[in-house]
Amino acid sequence: MITVREKPVTHWLPITKKEVEMRGWDEIDVILISGDAYVDHPSFGTAVIGRIIESEGFRVAIIPQPNWKDDLRDFKKLGKPKYFFGVTAGCMDSMVNHYTANKRRRSNDSYTPGGEAGFRPDYATTVYSKILKEIYPDVPVLIGGIEASLRRVTHYDYWEDKLLPSILVDSEADMLVYGMGEQPLRDLLRLVKKGVPLNSIKDVNQIAFLEEGLEEVETYNDWETVELASHEVCLEDKIKYASNFKIVEVESNKWQANRIVQKVGNKTLVINPPYKTMDEAEMDKSFDLPYTRMPHPKYAKRGTIPAYEMIKFSINMHRGCFGGCSFCTISAHQGKFIASRSEESIMKEVDALTQHPEFKGYISDLGGPSANMYRMKGKDESICNRCQAPSCIHPVICSNLDTSHKPLTKLYQKVDAHPEIKKAFVGSGVRYDLLVDDFNKNNQDGNHDEYMEQLVTRHVSGRLKVAPEHTSDATLRVMRKPGFKYFRKFKDKYDKIQEKHGLKQPLIPYFISSHPGCEEADMANLAAETKDLGFKLEQVQDFTPTPMTVAEVIYYTGVHPYTLQPIHTAKTKEEKLTQNKYFFWYKPEVKGWIKNRLLKLGHKDLAAKLLSPIKPQNQEIKKVEEVQKKSTTVMSEKPNYNSKKPIETKTQEGVFDKKKPLKKKKGWA
Ligand code: SF4
Repeated sequence: MITVREKPVTHWLPITKKEVEMRGWDEIDVILISGDAYVDHPSFGTAVIGRIIESEGFRVAIIPQPNWKDDLRDFKKLGKPKYFFGVTAGCMDSMVNHYTANKRRRSNDSYTPGGEAGFRPDYATTVYSKILKEIYPDVPVLIGGIEASLRRVTHYDYWEDKLLPSILVDSEADMLVYGMGEQPLRDLLRLVKKGVPLNSIKDVNQIAFLEEGLEEVETYNDWETVELASHEVCLEDKIKYASNFKIVEVESNKWQANRIVQKVGNKTLVINPPYKTMDEAEMDKSFDLPYTRMPHPKYAKRGTIPAYEMIKFSINMHRGCFGGCSFCTISAHQGKFIASRSEESIMKEVDALTQHPEFKGYISDLGGPSANMYRMKGKDESICNRCQAPSCIHPVICSNLDTSHKPLTKLYQKVDAHPEIKKAFVGSGVRYDLLVDDFNKNNQDGNHDEYMEQLVTRHVSGRLKVAPEHTSDATLRVMRKPGFKYFRKFKDKYDKIQEKHGLKQPLIPYFISSHPGCEEADMANLAAETKDLGFKLEQVQDFTPTPMTVAEVIYYTGVHPYTLQPIHTAKTKEEKLTQNKYFFWYKPEVKGWIKNRLLKLGHKDLAAKLLSPIKPQNQEIKKVEEVQKKSTTVMSEKPNYNSKKPIETKTQEGVFDKKKPLKKKKGWA
């Protein structure tokens, strides 16, 4: 069996001059600059883009995590490419990667060997792009990835606490590809191969660029154009900014969207409509590229890459999410419509995984952005074609949505039957509301129950992740999540299946504090309700307003972008820490604080609930602790580059964490 050391380095895309020479290239067509280490795996955007470029017959090299603080030799080491530079901050927005919800700098980075921080600048896309423009002013720069994608239009930047224009302005890049890059990139590559300069291309879908001047922009492909309020108007008028967001979100979620334009300074930003959702053949083509599924060998002595360790034995079955949660960027980046891989392609990847030198028979995640949306789509797609809803399941499940879990159950069973697979777990979060009959009436043939049986009995790795996110129905409405009563119903159903099979696999619910619409009393209620259900919460996070989300717009403007009605958000550090503290009602050092705080606020009843001993009939908290102690299988959260969340959400910032000794920072200091 081939180990990573034995595999020839030419199996990876080149990242050094020597590796370029080993391929016999005297020139490189496209050079990619990435804020992440190079992991040649389909969950890592730079690898996907690199492999696509390679598959189109181009010579492509990668410069991962270049030093931006020295004499810039990393940017110069491969010379200038024939066609263009491609720039990405990495799998996450660099600011989300670098800072906690309270703007405290993180001491680690999951996308760097050894988890070391300091190998990527803040606002990485802009920093890299400007450097390239300075060194090679005549070479086009194309930016992409989640940071560029979600900053494509005027957006609120939480870290600078102000509105920023499209990232095209500050980065000085020539073009931006938003969303998943395969389709636009393939079309762009075919054009540049024909000799069309990248920066002259205007008619490809899913790209954005700046045009000089404020005159009407020429139109292509019969696209209709929608004009947003200009960046300067947004700076003056928060309501106009909120209204802009609604237009951008509606267009992002349409089957056939319009082109968007926005004036900024003396230029016009043009955002071409997205491509249609990738079909099965296109998805397979992307996932079937010849990835080594391993980090580049150069990192062998620098320690493991935490994000890779989490996903190295996982399989992503689909893209997109029709949930439309207010705080999430998945649909803004991957789209509302689900793009699924074929069963054949997934099984091929299972086979490939079994050949991995470290594979021991366990798949850590058979999942996607949400675990259970595989192959789901509209029953009559002509209705979807005219639809503008940002979510297919909020406030109610659309009657046109086919939520059959049959294809997914069949796939689980098929993977389960593979002779080399001992267990295939589902580590991605399960969208539980799809499985609650009172909320989703489409369970006539019982396929949801069949799925749950299969999931609970065969694919839970000790604990099952679900994300009710809150218990307050008012906050949940702002979040575009279902009422909490449906979580209770799901739990009942889950517990019954467990009881039937003699299983003890606790549910691990995820919650968010300080989300727009959430008051302090809501957090006290959340603590009391979850305690009552037997949970001692651990997977919790404090809200971070990330670009291009409904919640970010509410945070900045104070109004909901659809209704323009005011919504309160906890904003100060103190307010945020206070809300977060309620999650930890069970810690001895918090009990006194809870008592004083709730009595002061006039919630004697809640104080009594939270400080009373755990009910004898509700010993699940203890069971959870026992299972957690015994559990040897590490749950994985898929760190795909579409996620806005940092990978590790367990450690909460704030007052209760014992300060860990800070590791000596290396980075590009
Ligand atoms: S018609 Fe229904 S299923 Fe189709 S996109 Fe709209 S909400 Fe989703």
